[in-house]
Amino acid sequence: MHRARSAALFVLLPTLLAADLNRTRNVILVTADGLRWQELFRGIDPLLAREKSVSMDPASKDADDRRTRYATRESLLPFFWRILAKNGLVLRDINVTNSYRVSYPGYSEILTGRASDDVIKGNDPIQQPNETVLEFLKRKLSLTRDRVALFSSWDHFHYIAEHTPGTIFINAGYQDLPSSPDLSRLQKVTPTPWDEARHDSFTFELALAYLKSAKPRVLFISFDETDDWAHARRYDRVLDMIANFDSFLNRLWTTIQSMPEYRNSTTLIVTSDHGRGSTLADWSSHGSKVAGADKIWLAMMGPDTPAAGELAAHAEQRDITPTMIKLLGLNPSDYKGATGSPIPAAFKP
Ligand SMILES: [Zn+2]
Repeated sequence: MHRARSAALFVLLPTLLAADLNRTRNVILVTADGLRWQELFRGIDPLLAREKSVSMDPASKDADDRRTRYATRESLLPFFWRILAKNGLVLRDINVTNSYRVSYPGYSEILTGRASDDVIKGNDPIQQPNETVLEFLKRKLSLTRDRVALFSSWDHFHYIAEHTPGTIFINAGYQDLPSSPDLSRLQKVTPTPWDEARHDSFTFELALAYLKSAKPRVLFISFDETDDWAHARRYDRVLDMIANFDSFLNRLWTTIQSMPEYRNSTTLIVTSDHGRGSTLADWSSHGSKVAGADKIWLAMMGPDTPAAGELAAHAEQRDITPTMIKLLGLNPSDYKGATGSPIPAAFKP
């Protein structure tokens, strides 16, 4: 008995010491486009469960199944609430500060730490006017192009994510990834109803394959279908895509923890670009005139993150860039033009 206990201590000790010394070496940012706080914090919305999307016909067996399967936030997002929220933190009071509350202004605010209201007024494909945090981190950490990567379902990230085209590795929309020929081919013969965005499942599988081979220090994975199906008023699909999103996060985290390059040295940040309406009339929509479309959420987990769970502390979308910079041991004030600041609750005291 005594011998067994000593042996166990011997094994545990180096792990504990290593955990104490650990700091964030890699940052992985994941977004789900227009994923409402309502579903994230409450599970299926009883109001929208009456929404007449094809298989959400209130009388159908399928609708009944979904109402049961997604009844609570833990059943809709099991990884998010049972693992991420328990080992990290979830901030429920996050505001978008740009006045448009649509995707490009939101992603730009996430990636540049400011609202660029005078230039980015909507989703028009104009080149990002400022150096993004992705470009800044590549420069400051002297990383090669392949170590700062972005995978997105929406093709507009070629404009959104870089001030100088070609600075970082971007795979966006129906774009081939030469090292994954089968997925590259399949995504094109499995189109979505939208020309600008591929299915999130392809974005995820390509990003995961890239993560394993190229081992980027900074990775941004952007999913889109939670927004696309909402605009199509398919609440049934929105719920299914939220559940998919949760399973992507689960597989991503399992992979991270299985790789020595990432295990215990990677911070995961999960958020959204904008909120949406909260009534039967406007839940499918968002924008400057939709009440509540400025309310988003943010979750984090990693070696610097306190296991604080759900917090009411207020923060803003523009705070994400300085938070990422600080996490990687750099000085946020070296990044010029940001108006946000690092989120205090995101760091262990
Ligand atoms: Zn949208």
